[in-house]
Amino acid sequence: MIDGLLTEKARSLAQQPSSSGKSTPAMNNKRKTQSFSRTLVHTKETSGRFPAELSYQDYKIRSCKETWERAKKLYTFIDGRDCLARTRNLEACRTRTFFAINSETKTVKVLSNACKLRWCPICQRATKANIAWQTENYIEHVKRPKFLTLTLKHSEEDLRYQIDTLYDFFKKYRKAKLLKKNVRGGIWFFQVKKNKTTGLYHPHIHILLDCDYIPQKQLAGLWLKITGDSNIVDIRAVHNAKKSADYVARYAANPAELKDLDFESLVVIFDALHGRRICGTFGNAKKISLRAKRPADESGTWLKIADWELIVRAGRNDTMSKAVVKSWLTGQPVSDQFCLGLITDFQEIENPPPKDIIISPVSGWFDEMMS
Ligand SMILES: [Zn+2]
Repeated sequence: MIDGLLTEKARSLAQQPSSSGKSTPAMNNKRKTQSFSRTLVHTKETSGRFPAELSYQDYKIRSCKETWERAKKLYTFIDGRDCLARTRNLEACRTRTFFAINSETKTVKVLSNACKLRWCPICQRATKANIAWQTENYIEHVKRPKFLTLTLKHSEEDLRYQIDTLYDFFKKYRKAKLLKKNVRGGIWFFQVKKNKTTGLYHPHIHILLDCDYIPQKQLAGLWLKITGDSNIVDIRAVHNAKKSADYVARYAANPAELKDLDFESLVVIFDALHGRRICGTFGNAKKISLRAKRPADESGTWLKIADWELIVRAGRNDTMSKAVVKSWLTGQPVSDQFCLGLITDFQEIENPPPKDIIISPVSGWFDEMMS
């Protein structure tokens, strides 16, 4: 337990004697650390409310179990077919996880590894959070935000061909005089659905636009002229920046809902989208990067505390671990009485992820740590 909580560096810092004979921060740290560790040594596996073997990955998957299983099945199939090993990456997603504390704000977050696979539901959620933040910022600086949807007439053509055509039409549409004159920029993202009755795919593009008023008829007329057979164009004003940003981000991170599709369709969509961009920016939106992480709100340095599983399990009985879990779930700083003990590790973390996405735990899981 003790070894799991303290690094060699922290131990050596804590053991440095004071030449003046006075108490030093390192010595204080040592005392606090010892008391922290002692309590952990006596931690017993009691009948906690959350499962004893709960890992951080289990915790993250809990709210997307069905999609996770579908993604695993999909990657297993693709790996077997194409001699790849991406399932291993998916299965390793969020398995190296630890708590960190900010040296200034004393807030806590969880840092972990990510597989960054397109169809990983956990990574999609992180991507969504970044895109939502970028998009909301963009909308707030746009004079007249609008939401445009371009669809193609249903077709039995190969999905890959349909997407190529849609992207090509969209490029021409953006370059047409009507849009050049009235549109200042936008964020676009791709989405595909499958009609359960006809079995046909329905690829479409959504665009969040910064543009002046253009009559819907003119937009639809131009789309028909370019596509030759499709005139369905939907345009509406954006009134709620946050709601629209969430909507954009949800689909920009996830071009198709895995759990709604049969396995054969999953493979078709996977192949059709492989190596293809599914969202992008143009005009005045080019200045934002949809891939950029949300910058950290805090100054200060993030310092490693200990592994997620260790703290969460210890938190049933250990007050300091309990304070860490509570701070993580509430976003509130850890109280002063515990801070010194926690900031003993001195493992600076470079480029920490900006913000935890807290998923509501199962009711009762962490109740005992919230009191
Ligand atoms: Zn992942």
